[in-house]
Amino acid sequence: MWVKFVASKTPLPSIFIDRDGTIVQEPSGPALEDFVVLSERHLPVLSRALHGLQKLSHRFSFFVVSNQDGINRGQISRANYEKQNRTLKKIFKKHGIKVRYWAVCPHTPEEKCACRKPLTGMAKEIGKRFAIDWKHSFMIGDRETDIIFGTKLGMKTIQLKWNEKRYKKTKIKPWKKAPHLSAAADAILKKSCKSPF
Ligand SMILES: [Mg+2]
Ligand SMILES: [Zn+2]
Repeated sequence: MWVKFVASKTPLPSIFIDRDGTIVQEPSGPALEDFVVLSERHLPVLSRALHGLQKLSHRFSFFVVSNQDGINRGQISRANYEKQNRTLKKIFKKHGIKVRYWAVCPHTPEEKCACRKPLTGMAKEIGKRFAIDWKHSFMIGDRETDIIFGTKLGMKTIQLKWNEKRYKKTKIKPWKKAPHLSAAADAILKKSCKSPF
């Protein structure tokens, strides 16, 4: 199928957002198929993400970049993953939030693809469709791979520290650390009000 994308001309200051551990709680255990984004487990993370994205939505475009190796491992079907995202899109819409593109890497590390974070394939895919102002953009995620991804692309990075143990193991330093996406949004707004970058 031929799909024509119209790239916007003015480079967009953007927020690149990881999904699991950032918008929703990191799914765990073997039952990835049963992961329901509206379950109580995810709500504390999701509600803070909604607050954060609402605060940023006047100034930034949003893009989701998510590693989902569970798809190619057979732990979750692509259809179910898309269904979860449809639920998230509906919730976002209700809160006035629009994510312009949801990029996903379904590959396992063994497949050695070019799109699994920390590699930047998903950003390149987005860059083909939208003009991105990388210098004035931010990457928000919970893992070191998110921070490496954002740094490679020249973005400022914010690491969410849900998991203290994992966070302590991080070798590369993010621009800022934040407890959740709402606090990350505050840090971004503070910075972007103090022009120049
Ligand atoms: Mg994550
Ligand atoms: Zn991939």
